[in-house]
Amino acid sequence: MATKSFTVEVGGKSLSCVVCGHERFWERRTLMNTKGASFLGFDWANTEATNYVCDNCGYVHWFLATP
Ligand SMILES: [Zn+2]
Repeated sequence: MATKSFTVEVGGKSLSCVVCGHERFWERRTLMNTKGASFLGFDWANTEATNYVCDNCGYVHWFLATP
């Protein structure tokens, strides 16, 4: 993948992937206003989420605000 990955710090600690322990991620923004989310009762869902995608295994870590 040609995407640049970087380390992420959350709450003063460097984020590591919960699946594989890798410490480099790439960032993606997702607008959480889908009908599916509303249907599931996520009333807070009309907001933007920050995703950090593990550069190694692809697991997506979700944050409701930029940490
Ligand atoms: Zn991973």
